[in-house]
Amino acid sequence: MPEPLLACHDVAYTYRRGTPMAAEALRGVTLGVAAGELLGLIGPTGSGKSTLIQHFNGLLRPSRGRVVVAGQDLWAPRADRRAARRLVGLLFQFAESQLFEETVRRDVGYGPRALGLEADEVEARVDEALRQVGLDPARFGGRSPFALSGGEMRRVALAGVLAMRPQVLVLDEPTAGLDPRARAELLDHIRALHARGLTVVLVTHNMDEVALLARRVVVLHAGQVAADGAPRAVFAREDDLRAWGLGLPQAAALVRRLRSRGVRVGDALTFAEARRAILAAAREAPRGDR
Ligand code: ADP
Repeated sequence: MPEPLLACHDVAYTYRRGTPMAAEALRGVTLGVAAGELLGLIGPTGSGKSTLIQHFNGLLRPSRGRVVVAGQDLWAPRADRRAARRLVGLLFQFAESQLFEETVRRDVGYGPRALGLEADEVEARVDEALRQVGLDPARFGGRSPFALSGGEMRRVALAGVLAMRPQVLVLDEPTAGLDPRARAELLDHIRALHARGLTVVLVTHNMDEVALLARRVVVLHAGQVAADGAPRAVFAREDDLRAWGLGLPQAAALVRRLRSRGVRVGDALTFAEARRAILAAAREAPRGDR
């Protein structure tokens, strides 16, 4: 197996270590993310998701264990931590609250400028990043980020992360608080970024988003990996999911409810799949059952 782009080996982390208030947030997490994956990271509130992703780019230092990015152990004595960190772009929850420049263009260019890149290179990266999130640089570049809609602001924040040209994009609840249209638009851009080769880790509470986008799901529970596999396999563990405080994608819940009422319908994770499964069941059902 090729070396994963990003790997955690037995990572543990305790907040306020050594004090009476110590809180053990991660209890030995081992996880590899291969180049080109789109991984959904789920788990109930407090399970350690935010703590874990802050280890991915070295914002937190593990109390135990190793974090390896592109073959580099982030906390090895001579590690070039800054270079390794740059490979992992992290979009925080409600990232638009961190926008601060007068124009969209300046905000998206903030990171590249801080790297000391030439002005032409900065501008080229800003144009590219804005286009990647569906914002026309000519139309949006000169506007104030604060005059935009919530969905547009979130996309400007994402463009700021993309302008650093990361290899791994880590998104913490990227659609939280957005209306359905802005949510769908953002998910489309995430899907397109992944299709262009970016490795994506999507942290979400929304099981429908996982079903729609992820090829692999990791469940965190009480600071440990409770499940790791294909969405279909993980979402088949209904009792475990309930015990972990997680639900099913709506489409999966729907077909299971139909089945519990005697309708012979196949499994589904997305509404498109549920529609196909229900139509197939209707076609196959004997006339008296309809
Ligand atoms: P999630 O992102 O899954 O909601 P977190 O990583 O935020 O989980 O939290 C994991 C655990 O660590 C929780 O018990 C939480 O209370 C604790 N925790 C998180 N941040 C801090 C902090 N800054 N100080 C102390 N404890 C924290």
